[in-house]
Amino acid sequence: ADTPEVLGVGALVTGYGAEPVLHGIDLQVRRGEMVALLGANGAGKSTLMRALAGLQRPVRGGIHFEGVDLTRLPAEAIVARGLVLVPEGRQVFGELSVLDNIRLGAFLDPRDMDKRVEEMLQRFPRLRERLHQRAGLLSGGEQQMLAVARGLMSRPRILLLDEPSLGLAPKVIAELFAALDRLRSEGMTILLVDQMAALALALADRAYVIEGGRVVAQGTAAEIAADDALAQAYLGAH
Ligand code: ATP
Repeated sequence: ADTPEVLGVGALVTGYGAEPVLHGIDLQVRRGEMVALLGANGAGKSTLMRALAGLQRPVRGGIHFEGVDLTRLPAEAIVARGLVLVPEGRQVFGELSVLDNIRLGAFLDPRDMDKRVEEMLQRFPRLRERLHQRAGLLSGGEQQMLAVARGLMSRPRILLLDEPSLGLAPKVIAELFAALDRLRSEGMTILLVDQMAALALALADRAYVIEGGRVVAQGTAAEIAADDALAQAYLGAH
């Protein structure tokens, strides 16, 4: 609890038209933490992730990361600062090879490319077997691992993952979450959105529950998991 805050979101308001989707979000992530962001469909989780990554302009409020004000920075500058989003829907380049997809993650800083690709292949051995295939031919789980590997190639200091388990079989989800748990144990700071609330809470240190663009609950993962009313209202019956 006494580790420093690295990401601070204050009174963040944003939306797509005149109507805001986020109505003043406050959220903090400390170094080395895994924080889960939970809530029903349409609560605003993806919108928040996109705002953090500079893909969605804040109307009011601020975003600070490691002492730098990110609120008005363009998305590339935010990536360069080490805040990296793996977006919802595992957006790999289907016509490119697995290797080229991985390499694309390092476009801002291609130093030690081969060494870093090798690290990713050790982390996700399934990708090595498919290295020269088109990414579009991978299974959903392999594509999600590829999306995470591409994100890691950008040398994140905080990794934002939007719904990594979406549409994956339970066995594949377990494999993916094991990889996330390993990343966390290596010291990576992670902000995770996932519909699999029970799984996300099993890994996370703390959680926020978002409803209608507002934080309606926050606490340690254990506290949130033990709250029956929350489980009924927001966390689904997974
Ligand atoms: P989900 O799990 O379904 O992705 P979410 O919590 O991530 O839900 P958001 O995707 O952030 O929710 O959506 C929040 C609200 O913003 C919803 O009402 C949605 O319809 C609206 N919204 C999202 N993207 C856009 C867009 N590009 N243009 C207009 N409205 C949008």
